[in-house]
Formats: sequence, structure tokens, C-alpha cells
Amino acid sequence: MDYNFKVESLPKKGETIPAQGFTTSPGGKGANQAASIARLGGEVLMIGAVGDDANGSILKASMEEIGVVTALNTVKTPTGNASITIDRNGDNTIIVYHGANFDIDISWVKKYTDEIREAAFMILQLEIPLGTVVDCITLANKLNTKVILNPAPAKELPDKIYPMVDIITPNETELSALTDIKVENLEDVSRAAHELLEKGVKNIVVTLGEHGCFYKNSKEELFIKSFKVKAVDTTAAGDAFNGALAVALGEGKPIKDALKFSNAVGALTTLKLGAQRSLPSRQDVQNFISKNIS
Ligand code: ADP
Repeated sequence: MDYNFKVESLPKKGETIPAQGFTTSPGGKGANQAASIARLGGEVLMIGAVGDDANGSILKASMEEIGVVTALNTVKTPTGNASITIDRNGDNTIIVYHGANFDIDISWVKKYTDEIREAAFMILQLEIPLGTVVDCITLANKLNTKVILNPAPAKELPDKIYPMVDIITPNETELSALTDIKVENLEDVSRAAHELLEKGVKNIVVTLGEHGCFYKNSKEELFIKSFKVKAVDTTAAGDAFNGALAVALGEGKPIKDALKFSNAVGALTTLKLGAQRSLPSRQDVQNFISKNIS
């Protein structure tokens, strides 16, 4: 659950300041990605954990309303939350309490082995314990289910993960963290992506914010320009993009079309405030793409 405070300037040490505005909004990378898939008409099961508290119930209800099927363990640890303070220039500070998200382990995930076996993809991000991520990827590989790993927030990964991942989707910061290559231009992106290929990942998709995205596998390299929009809030653009990529590839779209579709979903997500509330529907995306082509 995101707690969003609007302030004039960020508080200094020891200072108490008034907020000019306050909202709560459902968030969390995994939940946003699941919600993105459901909004686009995909079938998705969200495996995770919440606390036995009001936020847990609100997040579950909110995901289900969007169309996500939930498999959320209710644990004693409070539901994960983030306290986000945004000043008048748009600068922010964020405190993330991972809470119940860190109680997810493979024994809970394994209850859904049949669903994972039938799925086109298992999508993971790093707001759950790294050990659980490794265990989940190992399970998906055993079940022949492809893995999309969104390595966010940025963290170093154990080398054994890479050969088990079909698609890794870092943004530029995360790509730098994974490779120790300073990523400042497309050439750096390509070099860093090459390093990940050598570690064993089959496909690399790098999201480049307002510039679009980049793709590399052993045979080809693509750069797909973004759609031009007046961004209002880029929260969850990356999550929306990841959900869209899974939906498009799951439907059998060629990679170039899938990346274009995902760029459209990412761009549309920046047009509204908030995380899950800003996610576009399939109809929104179709209208947007046809308007931007003609
Ligand atoms: P993250 O939020 O994980 O850092 P990005 O900022 O790279 O991810 O955004 C993900 C995707 O959303 C981009 O690849 C792009 O398709 C789209 N996107 C993000 N910001 C913009 C923007 N300002 N204009 C157009 N598209 C955007």
C-alpha cells in the first residue's frame, strides 16, 4: 500500500511539517504487474502474501476487482507499504517496509504448481526475498514454464539465476547494477546486454523511460522508440510494461510487435497519477496505437 504525502519541501532531520495533500493507493511491483496483465485481458494468478490487516484486505479486493486471481497467504507480519513524500518540484523520498512480502517462501508457491505448469510465463521481481526468487525460477524451469525476471529494485543477482531466465527486463539503473557497466547511451546498453547474454539469459529487454526500449538476443538487436506523451506520473510505467510484454508474447505476437505494444502501455500509464489506477485497458491501448499511427 502506498501512502503519498504532498509537501512544500522534504522534511529535515527532527522537523515536523504539514502535508498539503494525502492519498493512499494500491501498489507494489508484483501487484502492479499482475494488475497490468488483467487490465489488458490476460489471465493472471498473483501469488504473494499480505498481513492480517486492513491494507491486506484492501489490496486483495482491489486486485480482484481489476480481474487478478489472488493466491495471497495471510501472515502475522503487517502488509508491505511505502511512505512516499513528494515536494513541489516533484522530488521525493520513499521508505519501503517490505513486511509480509518477505514472508513468501517456496512452500506457499508450490501449492500452485499445477497453475504454474499451465502458465505461459512466471513473472518475478525483487520485492520478495532473493532466495525465494531463486527457488521459484528453479521450480518454473522444472515445469517448463518460461520466466520473465524484472530485476527491480536494483540488486546484484547470483550467477546461477541467469541461464534459467528467458527474459530479463531491467531499466538503465538496474542494468548498471547487474553488470557494473555505467549505462549512459545505447552503446553502453548494448554492451551491458551482451554481458547478460554471456551469463546465460536468453533475451534482454531494457526499458529506457521516455526513449522507449531495447531488445537483444543471440541473433538480433532492436531499439523501439517510445510514443510521445506528456507524462504526468511515471510510477508503475515499468510494471505496466512488464505485464504488457507477458500478455503480448503469451498471445504469440512477434517480439517487435510485443515491444511496441508494451511501449504503448508504458506511455499510457504515465498519463495518470498513481500505480494500479493508471493502468490502461486493452481498448485504451488499441485506440492509442491507432491514433498514433494514422
Ligand atoms: P521504470 O519505471 O521501471 O524505471 P521506465 O521508466 O524505463 O521503467 O518505463 C518503462 C516503459 O514505459 C518505457 O520503456 C516506455 O515504454 C514507457 N515510458 C516511461 N516513461 C515514458 C515517457 N515519459 N514517455 C513515453 N513512454 C514512457
